[in-house]
This record gives sequence, C-alpha cells and structure tokens, in this order.
Amino acid sequence: MAFYSGDEQTEDYLFKIVLIGDSAVGKSNLLSRFARDEFYPNSKSTIGVEFQTQKMDINGKEVKAQIWDTAGQERFRAVTSAYYRGAVGALLVYDISRRQTFDSIGRWLNELHTHSDMNVVTILVGNKSDLKDAREVTTTEGKTLAEAQGLFFIETSALDSSNVVVAFQTVVREIYNILSRKVI
Ligand code: GDP
Ligand code: MG
Repeated sequence: MAFYSGDEQTEDYLFKIVLIGDSAVGKSNLLSRFARDEFYPNSKSTIGVEFQTQKMDINGKEVKAQIWDTAGQERFRAVTSAYYRGAVGALLVYDISRRQTFDSIGRWLNELHTHSDMNVVTILVGNKSDLKDAREVTTTEGKTLAEAQGLFFIETSALDSSNVVVAFQTVVREIYNILSRKVI
C-alpha cells in the first residue's frame, strides 16, 4: 500500500453540490441526515442560502463536498444564479408521495442547465420512500425519467436513512472519477 506524506496527502478536492427541487420534498432533511444524522419531523424552511462542508472518503482519498441547501428560496421560485454558480454536482429531489413535485423535475432541470455547466453530475432523488401507502410516483417512472435525461437515480428516505449516504456518494464519486480521468 502506498504511503503519502504531508503535502501529497493533503491535496484538496472541494466539490460544490446543490440540492434542488420543490418545497418540502425533504432537501434540508437529506442534508441534515447525511451531515449530522439528524431528522426534523416539523422542519420549517428559513430564508437564505446555507451550505455544509462534508468530508468523504472516495477510493481512499479525502474529498470535501460543499453541499448547498436552498433553505426556502424555492418557495418563491427565486433560487438565485449565485446558488448554482460553480456547482459540479446536483441532487434533484422530488417526493414520491406528491406527484406534483415529480412533474416539476423538468423545470428544475431547465433551471439547472440555464445556470450551470451542462456536465453537472446529477442524480434524480425520489425521497420519502418510507411513505409506502401514500406513494404517487412509481420507482419505474423515476428510473425512466432519469434514463431519458441521463441522470443517476435513487429512492431515499431521510426519515429512516435509507440510501441517503449512497445518494451523495454516487454524485461525489462520479465527479471524482471524471476529474481523475482528466488529470491522467
Ligand atoms: P425541503 O423544503 O425540501 O427542505 O424539505 P424539508 O427537509 O424541510 O422537509 C419537509 C417535510 O417533509 C418535513 O416535515 C420533514 O420532516 C418531512 N420529510 C423530509 N424527508 C422525509 C422522508 O424521507 N420521509 C418522511 N416521511 N418525511 C420526510
Ligand atoms: Mg429546506
């Protein structure tokens, strides 16, 4: 096994990842579950942009993901271009128990492509998979849309933690892989 000393090892990767999708789909809770393993049953959106930097291990390398949360801006259809600027990854979230939030995905994709690089690594996230009895969007529908748009796809639950880490890791690992291919 290779051992890297000092400077070599601290070679820094910092990836900006944005969370987007309709209000109340669970963006803030996906982030709090991922970053702090916390869930808020009655979270209220606050105004203003926030981000959280999370260290991740990708193929034995330390990578930092700077994950941005809209913190309520989306309620007013007012996610600013500054929010998207420099993003290399995106989690495009809908709520599997509210079809309307799935119908909005096209609009969010347009917005993402308007404000950021076409190559931003994106995963379509069907959140609230724990709400089995209230499901309005099938897994197949999610998968089909993701395939048509060239996106990764996953269903998650911020409530029971299912697939939350995998969702973030999928995006960060792909960015890392693209980057290392370019470097080599
Ligand atoms: P945001 O507006 O997209 O940031 O959504 P929030 O994270 O504020 O969540 C909106 C509401 O959905 C809150 O009451 C959360 O507790 C709830 N919620 C978020 N994720 C889940 C989930 O995976 N399952 C269930 N059942 N509720 C969730
Ligand atoms: Mg929020």
